[in-house]
Amino acid sequence: MSNCIFCDIIEGKIPAEKIFEDDDVLAFKDVNSQAPYHFLVIPKLHIPTLNDSDNAELIGKISITASLIAKQEGFSEDGYRLVMNTNKDGGQIVFHIHLHCLAGRQLGWPPG
Ligand code: AMP
Repeated sequence: MSNCIFCDIIEGKIPAEKIFEDDDVLAFKDVNSQAPYHFLVIPKLHIPTLNDSDNAELIGKISITASLIAKQEGFSEDGYRLVMNTNKDGGQIVFHIHLHCLAGRQLGWPPG
């Protein structure tokens, strides 16, 4: 997809600090980290928002990928937060579905 920064990362056109990759998903560190651990998991398929897909397998896979990384990185027991912002009120800036995984400190609730 042209004009999508996350598609450009998938295609290797712009750099990212990759954590995990397979045929379906990619995980990489968020450039504007909000916690000691802050990475994004994205599907390689370009889907603008959660409103645009009923692909339960792929949407589920990005969650499971985040949980596997949490286990590998050793913060699954302390815990983490998964967030998918959707559209304006959700604060979505990049219109390629992505799951934020935040961890490594006590996270406030409710979010601002
Ligand atoms: P959202 O508000 O949910 O759309 O969040 C988009 C996220 O993408 C933000 O947390 C940004 O810091 C992050 N981001 C934007 N560009 C890049 C990039 N090139 N590499 C890594 N993370 C990025």
